[in-house]
Amino acid sequence: MIKLHGKGVCSAIAIGQAKIVGSKMPIAQKRQITDTQGEILRFNEAKKRAGAQLSEIYKRALREVGETSAQIFEIHQMMLEDEDYNESVLSIINEGINAEYAVFKTCESFSELLSSMDDSYMRARALDIKDISNRLISCLKNEDSGEGVAEKCIICAYDLSPSETVLLDKDKVLAFVLSQGSASSHTAILARNMGIAAVVGVGDELLARISEGDMLCVDGYTGDIIISPDESTLDEMKRRKAQDERKKELLKSLSGKETITLDGTKINLYANIGAVSHVGEAIFNDAEGIGLFRSEFLYLEGNDYPSERAQFLAYKKVLESMNGKRVIIRTLDIGADKQAPYFCLPKEENPALGLRAIRICLTRPEVFKTQLRALYRASAFGRLGIMFPMIVSVDEVLKIKDLCAEVMTELESEGIEFSREVELGIMIETPASAIISDLLAPCVDFFSVGTNDLTQYTLACDRQSTTLDEFCDTHHEAILRLIALSAENAHKHGAWIGICGELASDLSLTETFLRMGIDELSVSPAYILSVRDAVRKIDLTK
Ligand code: PEP
Ligand code: MG
Repeated sequence: MIKLHGKGVCSAIAIGQAKIVGSKMPIAQKRQITDTQGEILRFNEAKKRAGAQLSEIYKRALREVGETSAQIFEIHQMMLEDEDYNESVLSIINEGINAEYAVFKTCESFSELLSSMDDSYMRARALDIKDISNRLISCLKNEDSGEGVAEKCIICAYDLSPSETVLLDKDKVLAFVLSQGSASSHTAILARNMGIAAVVGVGDELLARISEGDMLCVDGYTGDIIISPDESTLDEMKRRKAQDERKKELLKSLSGKETITLDGTKINLYANIGAVSHVGEAIFNDAEGIGLFRSEFLYLEGNDYPSERAQFLAYKKVLESMNGKRVIIRTLDIGADKQAPYFCLPKEENPALGLRAIRICLTRPEVFKTQLRALYRASAFGRLGIMFPMIVSVDEVLKIKDLCAEVMTELESEGIEFSREVELGIMIETPASAIISDLLAPCVDFFSVGTNDLTQYTLACDRQSTTLDEFCDTHHEAILRLIALSAENAHKHGAWIGICGELASDLSLTETFLRMGIDELSVSPAYILSVRDAVRKIDLTK
C-alpha cells in the first residue's frame, strides 16, 4: 500500500482501477530495427487505432460541444493521412529506425517548419501536428489516450488540458488524478462542474508509483490517494464513500426547497457550467438558474472561431433548458491557461496579466460582435444576462455597451427577434474593479465576483502554480474587504451582486457572504444542495 497526497478539488470519494493515460509529451527513444516491413505494418496499425479514436472523439464532441467545436477531430483524421507526413515517417523507418522515433522526428521537423511561417493559420497548425503525433506515439506504445475508456476507471495522467477534461466521458471516469495542476486551474474547476472526484498537483511520484490496473482510492475531500490499499484501509474507504453518498442522498431532500435563511432572507442559488451538456447536472441538482456559463469552452474545442449560428444554438439550448430561469452567460474569457491556437495570441511573459478576456474582445470587435449577436438572438428564448470578464475601468464598460447597442440596432434592422430585457453585468475579479465599484455599479445591472482571479490578482499568487498554497490564503482579509466594498456599492446604485468564483461554495464563508448582502451564489452543480443546506441553517438576526 502506498499513500500519496495532492490537492482534492472535488468533494467525492472514488474507488477503482487506475488507467494511465499518455503524458502530454510521449518520449520516443531511438532504436535500430532490422524488420522494416514489420515496423511499417506496426505504424499502419497505430494509424488505424489513432483514426478510430479520433472518430469516436469526434462523435462525442459533436454530442457534447457541437459541430463547430468537433470539427478539429475530423481535421486531425485527415492529417493522419497527409502524404508528406506519411512519406517522412516511412523514409525514416526505411533507414532502420523504429516507428515511434520516426513519428517523433517527423513531428519535430514539420512543426518547426509550420511555426516559422508568416501565415498565422499555418503557424497554428504546428500544434495540430504535435497533437496527432503524440496520439500516434501513444498508439504505437499501446498507451491509452483516456478519451475512449471502455470501463469505469480512475484516470491517472501527468496533466490534462481544460479541453481534454471537458471531453472526458463522465459516465466512465470515476475520478482523475494528475501530477500537475492547482485547485483553481480550469481543469480542476471543470472536474467540480462535472461532479468528478479529482486530486491534482500530486507531483512526479504519481506516475512513478502507479501501474495500470492498480486498485486506487481517491479522496477528493482530503487529497489523499491510496495505491493498492490493504484490506482494512479499503474497508474504511468504502465505509467513508457510502457515508458520503448517504449524506448526498439526504441533501436531495432539499431539492425543490427554497434557499432561504431562518430569518427569511432569500438568496439565488445558481450553477456554474462549462458546456451545454453540463446543464443536465445543474437541473438535476435543482439550480435556480445558471450564474456562470463559461462560454470560452465553445471556442476552445474547435480549430476556428465558432460561427454566430453555432453559438446561437448553444446559448438557445441552455436558455430553453432552464425554462425561464435566469441564465448568465459570460463572454469569451480566453487567454492565460485557456489558449485557442487559432487566435494566434502573441507570446507573453505573464499571460495572466496580458491580453486576455475582455481585452481580446475589445481589440477584436469583429469576434466580440459575433458572440454578442449570437447572445442577443438567443435572448428571445429565455431570461438572459450577459456578463463581461476582467473589467478594470468604466471606459471598458461604456465601450461594451456601445457595441451591445450597435448589435441591437443591427438585429432590429434585420428584423431578427431579441429580448430588450437582457441584463448586463460585469465580473469583479480584479482589485481595480472592486475599488472603483462605486463608479461601475451605475453602469450595469449586476456584479458577479470571480474570487479565483480576484484572489490571484490581489495576493499576487499565480492560480496555476502548484507551489504557492502557503501564500494563497483565499480567506484573506483583503479579498473579503473587496467583496464587501463591491456589495455595498452595488446596492447603493440599485445593482445586485453574486459570487461565481470557487469561494461561493466554501461553506465556512456562506454566513459572511450573506451578512455582506450577497444576493446570489453560483457554484458547481454538485455543491448546490450543500450550500442550500448551509443557508437554511443561518439566522442573520443573531
Ligand atoms: C473567477 O475568476 O473566479 C471566475 C469565476 O472565472 P474563471 O475561474 O473562469 O477565471
Ligand atoms: Mg476569472
